[in-house]
Amino acid sequence: MLFKDIAGQTVIKQKLIASVIDNRVSHAQMFAGPEGSGKLALAVAYAQYISCTDRSIGDSCGVCPSCLKYKKFIHPDLHFVFPVIKTAKLSKPVSDDYIKEWREFLSLSPYHSYQEWLTLTNAENQQAGIFAHESSEIIKKLNMKTFESEYKVMIIWMPEKMNIATANKLLKMIEEPPDKTLFILVSENTEQIINTIRSRTQLVKILKIDNQSLFDTIKQKYNFADEKIHEIVRLADGNFNKVNQILKSEEQGESTDYENFTKMMRLCYSVKIPEIVEWVDQITKGGREHHKNFLIYSLRMLRENFILNLSSEHQQNIVYLANKEIDFARNFSKFIHTNNINQLHDEFNTALKHIERNGYDKLIFLDLALTTVKLLKINPQ
Ligand SMILES: [Zn+2]
Repeated sequence: MLFKDIAGQTVIKQKLIASVIDNRVSHAQMFAGPEGSGKLALAVAYAQYISCTDRSIGDSCGVCPSCLKYKKFIHPDLHFVFPVIKTAKLSKPVSDDYIKEWREFLSLSPYHSYQEWLTLTNAENQQAGIFAHESSEIIKKLNMKTFESEYKVMIIWMPEKMNIATANKLLKMIEEPPDKTLFILVSENTEQIINTIRSRTQLVKILKIDNQSLFDTIKQKYNFADEKIHEIVRLADGNFNKVNQILKSEEQGESTDYENFTKMMRLCYSVKIPEIVEWVDQITKGGREHHKNFLIYSLRMLRENFILNLSSEHQQNIVYLANKEIDFARNFSKFIHTNNINQLHDEFNTALKHIERNGYDKLIFLDLALTTVKLLKINPQ
């Protein structure tokens, strides 16, 4: 994890980097901040920076042997402790029993929430915790010599899920740590952690991500209009996990639009009237926003299929379609041509206007589908 890959948090990054350069790394720190602020990502990036053998003033190098291991979260001097679940097979679970799932979880996104961790480990309805036997694991690991780095780093995610016996044992370790050991506790609810631990850790307070940084990060990754990015930023409210959720649900929405569009076109082309009526019933179950999105999506698909039909072999890559859309368009595009594109466009556009004006959706979609049946039959020549 490189600092540059973490959204915003410029001031905290600078402070963390300065503490390493000035050689005043405090041995027990509490990274406290709300969900989606990037506190776990910052903890890993900080540990990586300390361990990097070729760091610069601003970041880890990303390519030294230490950084390469950090990239996969497998550095031998980097240890993780996190809440785990008891199962029939595992009555005394420790973090290492779930290390494979944990690395996967981190690789997917370091902004993930506690709830998503429970989902990934199929533990949604169970109580997860950091149990007493974890503390002997911690002691064992920290008493080992370092393998490759100067520091051993132990990142404890969600220390508020630690039971009191574990917390007390950990407290002893924090009070008298083995040499060159760094504890980073990463917490969302510090008030749920026993006072004695809180008072012995240095607080690194992490705020939610500022809007400008969220905007810049999304802009860098996605080819969206500014207006759309502003909308995502507004909804996310400084939480990068929310940004990911919004983008994911959008993708899924597009995929439903794709299913609906291809189904409609197949039914219309083969004139299957009873199935078209069923399709209308199905699509009108969604709300008005879904209907609008579907029609906007359809307008784009019609346009792209028309362009694909017109373009010669070597020009076909100018069409902006995703892979599965291309597969569909290879057969379908020949039915969208100069003799029907304008009418199709007008019909879908009119439907969109009627939906926006709160028209009766079943009638609008049935009318649209039946007109499409006729328009797809028009001869291209
Ligand atoms: Zn490095």
